[in-house]
Amino acid sequence: MFQLVNVMEVLVSQVIEEVIKSDKTICNCRRCRLDMSAIALNNLPTKYVVTVQGEVLHRTSVLRNQCKVDIIRALTEAIKIVRKNPHHSRED
Ligand SMILES: [Zn+2]
Repeated sequence: MFQLVNVMEVLVSQVIEEVIKSDKTICNCRRCRLDMSAIALNNLPTKYVVTVQGEVLHRTSVLRNQCKVDIIRALTEAIKIVRKNPHHSRED
C-alpha cells in the first residue's frame, strides 16, 4: 500500500491547529482554515514522499522540526491575508 503524500500539506494542517488554538482571534471556521492553508502552501516548497501507512508520522516529525519556522512564517502571512478579506460570510 504505497501512497504519495505532500508532507508539507500534512505539516501545515498540524501547525495551523496549534496556531488557531493559541490565538483566539483567528477565525476557526473550515473555510478560513482552508484558505489559510492554501495561501501558506502556495508559499512553501512541496515535499512529496512515498510512504506506506504508519510511516507518515515518523517522516513528518523529522521534517516538522526542519520546516516549522518557515511554516509559521507562511501561516502568519496567510492569517493576515484571510483576516483582511475573509470568504466565510459569503460561503457559509
Ligand atoms: Zn471564517
